[in-house]
Amino acid sequence: VLRLDGIRKSFGATQVLKGISFEVRRHEVVALLGPSGSGKSTLMKCVNLLERVDDGQIWLGDTDITDPRADQDKLRARIGVVFQQFNLFPHMSVIKNVTLAARKVHHWSKDRAESRALELLDRIGMRAKAGAYPDQLSGGQQQRVAIARALMTDPELLLLDEITSALDPMLVGEVLTMVAELKSQGTTILMATHEMSFAHDAADRVVLLRGGVIAENGTPREVMDESQDPQTKEFFSHFR
Ligand code: ATP
Ligand code: MG
Repeated sequence: VLRLDGIRKSFGATQVLKGISFEVRRHEVVALLGPSGSGKSTLMKCVNLLERVDDGQIWLGDTDITDPRADQDKLRARIGVVFQQFNLFPHMSVIKNVTLAARKVHHWSKDRAESRALELLDRIGMRAKAGAYPDQLSGGQQQRVAIARALMTDPELLLLDEITSALDPMLVGEVLTMVAELKSQGTTILMATHEMSFAHDAADRVVLLRGGVIAENGTPREVMDESQDPQTKEFFSHFR
């Protein structure tokens, strides 16, 4: 579904990504791990077209999304995104938030957008909150709504960037449970996370970034339990 090939990205003189290549296959959940500042969010933004790469290609299916001629709106419909925080517009109801991009960017009719939104809200047990405003929801409910919104256009790939790290620890579980449900429904997911036990149990593969390159790429077991690399072992030792 997604293939990164030799991605490089600098901010000024700082090279953040120094040639990143890996794949996310259909129905796979890949956890992107690495210390703070290792470039996880930068990589996600390159995939989401919020940042331009300096070098390399990113393939979504057969489309090279780094090609400046690619249709950005069409590509955005194929990739769902949820960030750490500030996902919902505070002055709009849940249903407005969920339908906004589909209506304004993808020009769906009101009926089509609302019936799809209600179907998704129903699936996550939030249909009764369709008319509520974000500040009337818990952080966990807000993130679940943000995930529902990301799924509106039935994207081929879901990008989740630390979606639980701004949440009260009590609320992390419900959001991760939703991610696990999406996985069981076959959603293809690339998620940056510091939730190591979730990555260990739910991811098909983990990719570990360090110093702008991929230090490890393998099953959770291979990377988190069995790697003999001293820096890798040191990194995971902080989470035990
Ligand atoms: P965290 O785990 O804290 O979220 P991260 O792995 O997501 O970290 P990034 O946010 O990708 O890390 O940042 C990687 C590096 O790039 C950092 O040194 C950061 O300061 C730098 N950086 C990111 N965005 C910009 C920008 N727009 N301008 C300049 N530097 C940036
Ligand atoms: Mg980040």
